[in-house]
Amino acid sequence: MTERLYYRDSFLREFPATVLEVVPGNRAGIVLDRTAFYPTSGGQLFDTGTLLSDKGTARVVEVAEDDGGRILHFIEGDELPSGTQVRGEIDGARRHDHIEQHSGQHVLSAAFLRLFGLETISFHMGDESCSIDLSTSRLEAHQIGDAETLANDIVLEDRPVEIHFVSRAEAQRLGLRKIPPAERDELRLIDIRDFDLTACGGTHVIRTGQIGAILLRKTEKVKQGWRVEFVCGNRAVRTARRDFRTLTEAAGLVSGHIWELPQQIAKLQGSAKTLRKSQADLLEEVASYHANQLLHDTPEHNGHKVRVAVFPDRDLEYVKLLAQRFVRQGNAVCFFASTSATPAVVFAQSAGQPHHMGALMKEALASLGGRGGGSKDLAQGGPERIDSLDRVLEALAARVRE
Ligand SMILES: [Zn+2]
Repeated sequence: MTERLYYRDSFLREFPATVLEVVPGNRAGIVLDRTAFYPTSGGQLFDTGTLLSDKGTARVVEVAEDDGGRILHFIEGDELPSGTQVRGEIDGARRHDHIEQHSGQHVLSAAFLRLFGLETISFHMGDESCSIDLSTSRLEAHQIGDAETLANDIVLEDRPVEIHFVSRAEAQRLGLRKIPPAERDELRLIDIRDFDLTACGGTHVIRTGQIGAILLRKTEKVKQGWRVEFVCGNRAVRTARRDFRTLTEAAGLVSGHIWELPQQIAKLQGSAKTLRKSQADLLEEVASYHANQLLHDTPEHNGHKVRVAVFPDRDLEYVKLLAQRFVRQGNAVCFFASTSATPAVVFAQSAGQPHHMGALMKEALASLGGRGGGSKDLAQGGPERIDSLDRVLEALAARVRE
């Protein structure tokens, strides 16, 4: 079995070791007699780094534990046969980030438990942020704030974080709340002085001050409870910096202070809504005048007015308004089209006229392509081709005029 050097020293970055075994598979996994590389487990992500030897250099791209408890180092680069002496070096920045996030999680979970009796049921570490799932059906805004404050107080108090190896019986005596399922008799306890005692195999800080800030972010209801997203240490600083940049940019757009953004945005939304409404009113008014003018200019044939018109600069919404107003009174029929970016055709007739606009639309689209349809008095469609639009509409109008 591999000696897990990270069990006793989370800050060990370099170590000598011997290759015990090369486990074949899709990717060969290197087993060492001892390692400081952390395999993904307990929500914490694996380490990366290098294995150096006389035979060459291999990059460790992933580390995982198999069902038999073997730690497999998946490598790229030179091969490292069994018996090779290697020098392992883990990526210190990546490990340090993981230590900050994972230790922060211990403190945060303990804060929710102490303040509100909320248990953490799972922990997830991502590349951007981390999250815990709390076993609760509701989570109030003040609870988020209170837990964040207590967690950061514990960081600022710079409490020692110690590792104890104890038997299961001792763990019980120490009052460990959650004893993990029996795998081995010895338990590894992480003790944040007078605040939290948890069995854990991960990597941690030596003092809580090393965690830096603990910043709570988004919360969301999930199946098993509430998910709380958070970032710690340098991630918290980077995230806060990014938030500030984004807010400053947004505030620049509305010429206000970042703290006034919600009110400023609400104000903008309000005026946009008012503008949309007044634009719609104006459009209706213009369409009414336009329709009246078209009616006035359309000669009457056999007691009704039939009009074909193509509008290159108007959209469907306007052409439809226009058609509805054109046929509103009297005995009118119209075949209107828009040849704007999204071509459209609208056919309409005054109530009581004998034709069927939906059927005529189907007929027109049979030669123009595209989809559409409608009722007896109003139909609309989106033609695929507009080169023969005038001809098709004129042909329909000619039939209707007879
Ligand atoms: Zn831990």
